[in-house]
Amino acid sequence: MIIQFEKEIETAQKEEIINKVKAFKYKPTEVITQKGDYLIGIGKAEFDIRSIGLMEGIKDIHLVSDDYKLVSRKWKVKPTEINLGDGVKIEEGGFQIMAGPCSIEGEEQIVKTIAHLKANGIQIMRGGVFKPRSSPYAFRGHGIEGLKIWYELAKEAGMKIVTEVMQVSQISEMDPYIDIYQIGARNTQNFNLLDELGKNTDKPVMIKRGISGTIDELLSSAEYIFSGGNERLLLCERGIRTYEKATRNTMDLTAIPVLKEKTHLPVIADPSHGIGIRQHVEAIALASIMAGADGVIYETHEKPEEAFSDGQQTLNFFESNQLIERLKKTFELRSSF
Ligand code: PEP
Ligand code: MN
Repeated sequence: MIIQFEKEIETAQKEEIINKVKAFKYKPTEVITQKGDYLIGIGKAEFDIRSIGLMEGIKDIHLVSDDYKLVSRKWKVKPTEINLGDGVKIEEGGFQIMAGPCSIEGEEQIVKTIAHLKANGIQIMRGGVFKPRSSPYAFRGHGIEGLKIWYELAKEAGMKIVTEVMQVSQISEMDPYIDIYQIGARNTQNFNLLDELGKNTDKPVMIKRGISGTIDELLSSAEYIFSGGNERLLLCERGIRTYEKATRNTMDLTAIPVLKEKTHLPVIADPSHGIGIRQHVEAIALASIMAGADGVIYETHEKPEEAFSDGQQTLNFFESNQLIERLKKTFELRSSF
């Protein structure tokens, strides 16, 4: 059960509601976010929803049987819109393109990537400064100093940035230099990190699906952050591990319409990690639009063969230009339905 309190609710009214919820053998948890004050009730008993819903101080009440509640579309009719300022939004009915290298390598690379993106009207650049790598000997990113340089250059150019946070201690140092946090596939169930991103930032968070994670697990991870207080969330399908060896991951395009049905949060597709093969990234990116994604995030680099990481799935700028043009056409086609 989700109860949304009226903004002006009095303490005594709140207590009365909480006692009523407990009387129905539901366990109440109060959640205060940037946008609202809620009570989540966990329980199984059947009861007439009006017996609570008509009480003073309640704006709205919904019965949501899924494990995740606040991120469910069952209670929120208006989909979540992520407003990054300066006219940059991620929202249902629109289509945002986020692109950039797997890793931030240096100033020259940043400047060239920004120029490439700006020439195509792209407003959000991706890149990693803290890189989760399977091998400890691989390039692990330029860290906070790299982020500061990147952020300043991007800001000057009017470009927003999205980058991965790997641990709790990084949040406070990254926060002034970031537009969207990314939770990587290896950290989707790092519940301490999720908790902290709920409580200690109001910056948007894009949560990638876990390498072997189910759709419901992804939604429950989002619930952690939302219930911590941060409603500004995006979900990202980036492929899952299956028995298939011909591709790096199995891009689960089926997750896109399913997520769109289950949650009010925007859904982003990552075709680069999704398939892991440069020449097939475009096909998967275009397919993800038709599957209903609200945006894509993909890897691009001036010289993918020289990229510090993930060169095999990274588009060069020529390929990226072509992809953007085709994404725009495909989005127009979808919008005409
Ligand atoms: C990345 O975006 O470069 C990355 C490491 O992604 P994922 O967590 O999906 O593997
Ligand atoms: Mn990568």
